[in-house]
Amino acid sequence: MAQLRLQGVYKRYDNAEKGIFRSRKAKQQNGYAVENLTFTCEDGEFVGILGPSGCGKTTTLRMLAGLETITAGGIFIGETRINGLLPKDRNIGLAFEDYALYPPLTVYENLAFNMRAKDKPDAEIKKAIDYVAPLLKVEELLDMKPSALSGGQKQRVNIARAIVRRPGLLLLDEPLSHLDGKMRQQLRHEIKRMHHEIKCTTIIVTHDQMEAMSLADRIVIMKDGNLQQMGEPLEVYDNPANEFVAGFIGEPPMNLLSSVIARADRGFLFTFPGSELRIEVPSRYHGIVSEGQRVTLGVRPVDVMVADGLTMGSEAPIAIYENLGDERRMSVRVGDGLLNMTTPGDVWYEKGQPVRLEFKAEKTHLFDPATGKRLG
Ligand code: ATP
Repeated sequence: MAQLRLQGVYKRYDNAEKGIFRSRKAKQQNGYAVENLTFTCEDGEFVGILGPSGCGKTTTLRMLAGLETITAGGIFIGETRINGLLPKDRNIGLAFEDYALYPPLTVYENLAFNMRAKDKPDAEIKKAIDYVAPLLKVEELLDMKPSALSGGQKQRVNIARAIVRRPGLLLLDEPLSHLDGKMRQQLRHEIKRMHHEIKCTTIIVTHDQMEAMSLADRIVIMKDGNLQQMGEPLEVYDNPANEFVAGFIGEPPMNLLSSVIARADRGFLFTFPGSELRIEVPSRYHGIVSEGQRVTLGVRPVDVMVADGLTMGSEAPIAIYENLGDERRMSVRVGDGLLNMTTPGDVWYEKGQPVRLEFKAEKTHLFDPATGKRLG
């Protein structure tokens, strides 16, 4: 398949046209489930669409599949506009979170169904199934009926059915969300292996950042129907475009602290209302901050450290201290909020103990509290 491109795509559901909204949020967005969505997916690329519930992920996937009309904009494969085409003419394989297998048919016949509907010869169908069955480890299941399969097995069959005709574009909607932790991990590895083997352009929709980070070449992050950022997993982790992405990607989440900039002898300090804590502003921000400016300071828990006794700085008390085996997590009170950090397993602290903090300067992020946009 050539490049897939969404160009300024909008979706407003019909009931919104009549003033009927599904939720308060939908009303706030004036019924637009997706707004001005533009991104491209290269041939063979694996793209994850990630975002919280209601952000428009499934709507986007359904528009790509042709199951939903688009209100404005265009969907292109290469230079061909496809949003006028019927789903069956788009050469797309679909696997949704509910397996929707045909219960009376064996796994083999489920896999063969669409090819039979297109009058493909038996030998061609068998060849196609012989190819995909091992890729998704369903060879042993071919004679079984869906009712005899576990959730994980049903999802394997579901995905195998979506790729058996070798579609140009494979769309996966939360394929792992019904599965338990271990099964999720296993199937995640298999999906990755399968993609590596067939190199089919694939889009997965998920609200699970771990799934998106581990499977996708690039991630599209959405909120309230709008694209927030598209980039490689490490790019969105290391350089979040705004406060929303910063807080959404990463576990435990990034600390986002309200701060007021103060002058210091040499440079500036981050101060935090209601707290004695003062942190030196890294020199790379000196050109963009000024005294009295309000900023949101982002720092991941792994990038906050307890400073040694020689380091200058102020202290803050430990509010929560948790032992998780190989690491300890603690939270330090900063004004009304908590600053979370992880500490090595071989050092012990006590609740209430004041600690001096140090942030890895190159791992701090600044955001404009009014717009949420990244500064610098
Ligand atoms: P989830 O992760 O919960 O599935 P999502 O990110 O996939 O959420 P969508 O299902 O695409 O989000 O929904 C986006 C918005 O569109 C929501 O406000 C939702 O209420 C609204 N919406 C979805 N389907 C319809 C519909 N058929 N009619 C009206 N509004 C709809």
